[in-house]
Amino acid sequence: MYEQFFQCPYCWEEISMLLDTSVTQQTYIEDCEVCCRPIEVTSRFSGDELVAFDAIDIEQ
Ligand SMILES: [Zn+2]
Repeated sequence: MYEQFFQCPYCWEEISMLLDTSVTQQTYIEDCEVCCRPIEVTSRFSGDELVAFDAIDIEQ
């Protein structure tokens, strides 16, 4: 697992999520641990290296 730190697109608090490095590319919804609003997280790995990461709000 890979721990990625980023800012929540809603409350701008720094949060972290655990990403599964065995999945090359995935998009899923996870709630912010601070404000509990849903964040769409996209991650892409090349081997154990994170090559793309995006966290966007889906409530607009
Ligand atoms: Zn938040």
